[in-house]
Amino acid sequence: MTATQQPPRDKDGRLTPAPPEWTTRPAPPFPEAAIKGLENQVQRANLRHATGTIRAKRARVVAEVDNWQDLRAAGEAIKNRTLRHLDQHLETLEASLTRAGATVHWARDAADANRLIVDLVKATGEREVTKVKSMVTQEIGMNEALEEAGIAAWETDLAELIVQLGHDFPSHILVPAIHRNRGEIREIFREEMGVYGTPAPEGLSEQPPELAGAARTHLRNKFLRTKVAISGANFAVAETGTLVVVESEGNGRMNLTLPETLISVVGIEKVLPTVADLEVFLRLLPRSSTGERMNPYTSMWSGPTEGDGPQNVHVILLDNGRTNALKDPKGREALRCIRCSACLNICPVYERVGGHAYGSVYPGPIGAILNPQLRGVDNPIDKSLPFASSLCGACAEVCPVKIPIADLLVHERHRVVEEKKRHQVNQFEPAMMKAASWVMADHKHLEAAGTASSLAGKLLPIRTIGPLPGPLSRWTQNRDVPMVPAQTFRQWWQENRGSKENHDERA
Ligand code: SF4
Repeated sequence: MTATQQPPRDKDGRLTPAPPEWTTRPAPPFPEAAIKGLENQVQRANLRHATGTIRAKRARVVAEVDNWQDLRAAGEAIKNRTLRHLDQHLETLEASLTRAGATVHWARDAADANRLIVDLVKATGEREVTKVKSMVTQEIGMNEALEEAGIAAWETDLAELIVQLGHDFPSHILVPAIHRNRGEIREIFREEMGVYGTPAPEGLSEQPPELAGAARTHLRNKFLRTKVAISGANFAVAETGTLVVVESEGNGRMNLTLPETLISVVGIEKVLPTVADLEVFLRLLPRSSTGERMNPYTSMWSGPTEGDGPQNVHVILLDNGRTNALKDPKGREALRCIRCSACLNICPVYERVGGHAYGSVYPGPIGAILNPQLRGVDNPIDKSLPFASSLCGACAEVCPVKIPIADLLVHERHRVVEEKKRHQVNQFEPAMMKAASWVMADHKHLEAAGTASSLAGKLLPIRTIGPLPGPLSRWTQNRDVPMVPAQTFRQWWQENRGSKENHDERA
């Protein structure tokens, strides 16, 4: 396609597949969205299988490394040190990139970044771009911003391609199409590939090599004709101005080498001070994410190299809420995240409800703390996310940079409660808390409350309590509550383990 040609449009007049309808209106808060996820039996089976497989692989390769805990501590220390002096490292990064011939831009928020990207693409005269898989471009809604500006953005990562062609939304950081099985992928390829480019071959089966072959042929045409590529970066090394992308398929490398113009959008927390720091993260990341000892492709670049690769290199350094997170001495720990997704794969809540329930591009435990940090807690989705966890702590155990996710969830819950108190209209919860604190304050109160409730247990001939009215309904709408026992623990102890005197002595 030449620069003056317009890319074709589908029957709805769009250049690229429309995202699902539910993403274009405000997402429901987690408790509501989670019910939908729980009801999706196919998705639950797909997720159980996929997360179980990745979990086992990760555990195997992590166990091979004798000093794994030291590596985690090193990753944590490097990130903490870098975040403390982020301003200085960013300035060094800008100077290094500029010296290497790249043009550096700064973006305060998503709108800023998208404006810059649209202008940069339009300046090339092109109307099509290819993309390296990148969470940050999803965070800013870049594909839709480009579509509105008349520019088609094509995902080239296999899983992202499945999501895009399926008019779907990613549900996992690393495996965006984790909720889809082979049969669904074959149908998507057969129905959609031909609308937006090279069609799937006749008689395409569900076999992975055939599906991968269809994707390769479809993408090859796009790689060969597209002159602008857009990427993110896993890391950005300040001392040398080196951006790093790690991947498994090699499609990223095609984007980083074939086009004439390369635009990279980088969250400001991706900075590492030195090349030596990379050594730690290139060992931590692949084992934690895909369960591989080393990722198959690691691409590094700075500015342009004459006669080789993109000749126009732009880097957009994006804030989009990150400096807000930095201000919170506890909450800033979430910025250490290297997006490995180990916390998603081990989370029992994520495994059952799926990624869409979190209403954001960052699902799972990290999404539950990162979104409120980046976006605040004054909207229904982000307010609900810190409660989207059982606080079992499994996520913190596997996190390669030792983010205390459960502690941060509690921290965010506190922020939500404080925010709620400022706009308090409902007096029910404070009254409940006051009553609970009176009961807990004195053992005699607790004993009296226990006796009263056991009386109810004796009088009512039921085993479970059904839906309760009013504010209590939120507690009982999705679970059976067992009836209070007819005997308190103290009464049982007295009867079975000794006299009242003994009991009082022990107490
Ligand atoms: S919070 Fe930790 S485990 Fe989760 S994605 Fe980030 S680095 Fe990985």
